Amino acid sequence: MKVVRKTGGLFMANSYIVFDENSGEACLIDAGGYARPILDKCRELGKKLTSVLITHGHFDHLTALAKLKEETECSVYIHEADAAALSDPRLNLSDGFFLACRPIKADVLLKDGDVVEAAGLSIRVLHTPGHTPGGVCYVCGNSIFSGDTLFKLSVGRTDFPQSSYEQLADSIRSKLFVLPGDYTVYPGHGPHTSLQFERENNALV
Ligand SMILES: [Zn+2]
Ligand SMILES: [Zn+2]
Repeated sequence: MKVVRKTGGLFMANSYIVFDENSGEACLIDAGGYARPILDKCRELGKKLTSVLITHGHFDHLTALAKLKEETECSVYIHEADAAALSDPRLNLSDGFFLACRPIKADVLLKDGDVVEAAGLSIRVLHTPGHTPGGVCYVCGNSIFSGDTLFKLSVGRTDFPQSSYEQLADSIRSKLFVLPGDYTVYPGHGPHTSLQFERENNALV
């Protein structure tokens, strides 16, 4: 699997273009920042964007989504418990920042344990609520895309109305830290890390 990071927007959210090199397609994990640099990168890579997997329904991970959908007709995936946030400015927090985040409808609603086949990859869904009710991590090969659940030496904010620190810490312990062996962790903000490093050093879990 190839992973190409694009970072953008007010809160510098990470989006990841992922694909198997033998596939002509690309899958995007989260859609922060602007659509144009993501589409330009896909074109440069020679890949057609066919699916967007959202880690959770906060606007900083969604700002490029409506435009991407318009230009590529990609399928949008999100956990069923966060699906309403795609079209609700209060749930996706865009109203609090006076930002416009165009409403959009999901194509596929996800549940814990689902496997998404996209861009030549099998991507497993782990439901990790706490930052949001429908927050997920996506696991593919030796990589985890952790959204705002787990960051390098930190975790996602839990001061939002729908958040719970206890639930978030439990999700990380019972869904991520129990995975056997080590993984590269690609978070929704900041640099990548490894699961083993976080098991040993993350004081917030
Ligand atoms: Zn968030
Ligand atoms: Zn975020």
